[in-house]
Amino acid sequence: MPAQITLNQLVQLIIPGITAVFSLGFACAWLYDRRLRYLRFLAASFVAFALGSAVQICHLPDEWRLNALISATFYVLSIQLLAEGVLRRAGLHLRLATHASMFALVLGGMYYFSFVTSNLLVRVYILNLSAGLLMVFTAVRFRKRCNGRTVNHVLLWVLLIFGASFFIRTPLTTIQPLPHSAAPFARTIFWVLLQLSLALMGAVLGLVLLAAAMSDVIDRLTLERDLDSLTETLNRRAFERMAGRRVADKRSYPLALIAFDIDNFKSINDRYGHAAGDAVLRQFAAILRAAVREKDVVARIGGEEFVLLLPGADDKFAYQIAERLRTVLESSRFNEIEATLCVTTSAGVARYRPGEAVGELLARADHLLYAAKRAGRNRVVTEPLGQTWDAPELDIV
Ligand code: GH3
Ligand code: MG
Ligand code: MG
Repeated sequence: MPAQITLNQLVQLIIPGITAVFSLGFACAWLYDRRLRYLRFLAASFVAFALGSAVQICHLPDEWRLNALISATFYVLSIQLLAEGVLRRAGLHLRLATHASMFALVLGGMYYFSFVTSNLLVRVYILNLSAGLLMVFTAVRFRKRCNGRTVNHVLLWVLLIFGASFFIRTPLTTIQPLPHSAAPFARTIFWVLLQLSLALMGAVLGLVLLAAAMSDVIDRLTLERDLDSLTETLNRRAFERMAGRRVADKRSYPLALIAFDIDNFKSINDRYGHAAGDAVLRQFAAILRAAVREKDVVARIGGEEFVLLLPGADDKFAYQIAERLRTVLESSRFNEIEATLCVTTSAGVARYRPGEAVGELLARADHLLYAAKRAGRNRVVTEPLGQTWDAPELDIV
């Protein structure tokens, strides 16, 4: 064991220090929103890297074979945890058996080329190439999950470049003959270059991952602000914002709005209790969500009032959608209420008139909805009043 840490080592320890700070950043983000569980893998990955390089820099333990094996263990763990964190963020993961095989292969190689026959060059190749391979593999799998988000595209490129850098860095070992033990090796240009480029790329990767984590936290907060917690559809405020965007985009035309209001909902609450009423709301919302396309907007804008905004839908199409949803609800059964009781909805369908505000469109749809109520409920009314079309042949639910 070295008697004391030299100034040179102290300077080098900046690298694991910075890595540890990144790790702290991921841990804090995870503490803030524990649903972002991939952050635990990233935090652990950066800690593992910090430990690996600290072990190497401080020669702890001083016996070089043991040191090489321990630091390699941390490095391999670090890269595996990083891959797992990135993949989990995208809803993917690697099998435990894959991780275990990679770990055993790399560490087996490291053991063989330090304890059985000493070959630093092979050790460098094993570590670097396995890290590069896993990183490029992770990037390739992550590629399809970028979802058009800038931060994901940046992350993808950083992973690819970082991964490729391992392949470029490794042949640099041939520039000069390497001494085969740890202490003189640490003084070669290669080692300094290796550490510097690793530190630089690691810092860039850490920053991009932190930015990705922050954007995930913000996305979740925005979603929470915009979603109605009971039905997981948009709330009124988010609907107004989204509808404003659709209205402003002429590619959405023709644009139709359906306003739904569950019939005699108060009596469901009165007879079966508020919880049963809530279950009905959730089920109707699920019916609506299952029916919509990605560009449609579905929202709960009042107690038992929902709206569906349909870009590219004319009156007839919107009417048929509304009619179909009305019959789906009518034939739905609920565990919470008597099987003989039908829950029904009335609906008003209005077509957007270019130039009008979202509020005006909503008011017209509401007006038609109340015409449906007055006409006896469980029906769809559209403009001109009384207009109907044949039963839909749409396969929407
Ligand atoms: P109509 O056919 O005319 O629409 O009659 P209705 O009974 O459906 O309409 P009304 O406006 O009289 O009643 C709506 C009820 O919705 C009253 C309110 O207690 C209930 N409500 C509002 N929000 C919620 C909710 O989140 N959960 C439950 N269970 N009930 C709610
Ligand atoms: Mg109602
Ligand atoms: Mg109502």
